[in-house]
Amino acid sequence: MSCDPAERRRTPLAEKLAERIRRTGPITVAQFVEACLHDAEHGYYRAHAGIGRDFVTAPEISQMFGELVGLWCSVVWRQMGSPDPVHLIEVGPGRGTMMRDMLNAVRLVPDFVSALRIRLVETSGPLRTQQQSLLRDASVPVTWHDTLAEPAPCASIVVANEFLDALPARQYVRTMARWAERAVSIDVQGQLQFACGAPPDAGVSEALAMRFPGAREHDIAEVGDLSLLDWLVAQAQQHTTVALVIDYGHERSTLGDTLQAVRQHRYEHPLCSPGEADLTMHVDFERLAHHLTRSSHLTCAGPVTQADFLGALGLIERTSRLMAANPAKALEIETAAQRLLAPGGMGTRFKVIGARSRQLPPLPGLSVGHMPPSA
Ligand code: SAH
Repeated sequence: MSCDPAERRRTPLAEKLAERIRRTGPITVAQFVEACLHDAEHGYYRAHAGIGRDFVTAPEISQMFGELVGLWCSVVWRQMGSPDPVHLIEVGPGRGTMMRDMLNAVRLVPDFVSALRIRLVETSGPLRTQQQSLLRDASVPVTWHDTLAEPAPCASIVVANEFLDALPARQYVRTMARWAERAVSIDVQGQLQFACGAPPDAGVSEALAMRFPGAREHDIAEVGDLSLLDWLVAQAQQHTTVALVIDYGHERSTLGDTLQAVRQHRYEHPLCSPGEADLTMHVDFERLAHHLTRSSHLTCAGPVTQADFLGALGLIERTSRLMAANPAKALEIETAAQRLLAPGGMGTRFKVIGARSRQLPPLPGLSVGHMPPSA
């Protein structure tokens, strides 16, 4: 995928970043992604966030996705000993669709509903407004938070769908003799371009050497943001904690540049339309699992594929029931379910990983077994 000069769009953010680089020098890829997504004036999630217009997520494809996640939470809550209150925390809730469908499904479990305190962690003003409107009739208290910084004062269940892929990861390029952070600079015409930046500190270089002993010149390694996991680890020291993370990525740590831009349902070069395309990076589930299990308070299950997880939770049975109850929409309902389960598509590209306080029994739907190592 190229970004030839004809395709490059001189977006206001492209101009702003070029000016910043002219003044203070190249920025890291992580700083570039951070600006593209969150720049106060022109960031994608501040000004353009287009779930549905640019890309579509599982909860937006079918109500059954959120319903099953909601029922999963109610079962897990029982396994936790029915704590009251319990915080149900969603990070990166998008339009609020998944939480709306989760709450619809758990109406059947009134003691869970009365224990629930919902926290939504969202940085995007426009998406927060959409969440507020979708959840205005929720019969449980909902509060909004900019970050996960505050600890929850009680037991909590955390859910995250397509959140980690939206966090800027750092990229490192292997040169002949060492690693260098991948950066964004400007060419002679003032256009953004990828460049090799400064070497990372010794700790990062060592960690990269251990993770990727066979790295060759020009290989790219990515180091994702694990602050959500650090929060879970700290939280689990105080209170019973469960987390469910669904995202796309690889089950084994691999080298490669996974930064991608999507605008109006089409992939484009990440430097083409700064601020106007959604930028994401794949999640490294092996690193996630490794980080979580370093905590003596947490244990981790999965990753399993989204198809295995939703299958274990009864998506197929639920689809048949919903089709029978809505014959006029049967085809639409079936197509949506197929999309969520598609082999080679969402069903396998998306993975699910769970974490739980060690004293809890295994989490439902995640004991399908580890996926076979990739070839
Ligand atoms: N979970 C939703 C939306 C996924 S898009 C769905 O499945 O439809 C990513 C979401 O994460 C958006 O709501 C975006 O605004 C939010 N987000 C991105 N970076 C964030 C950050 N640093 N803190 C909190 N939310 C963030």
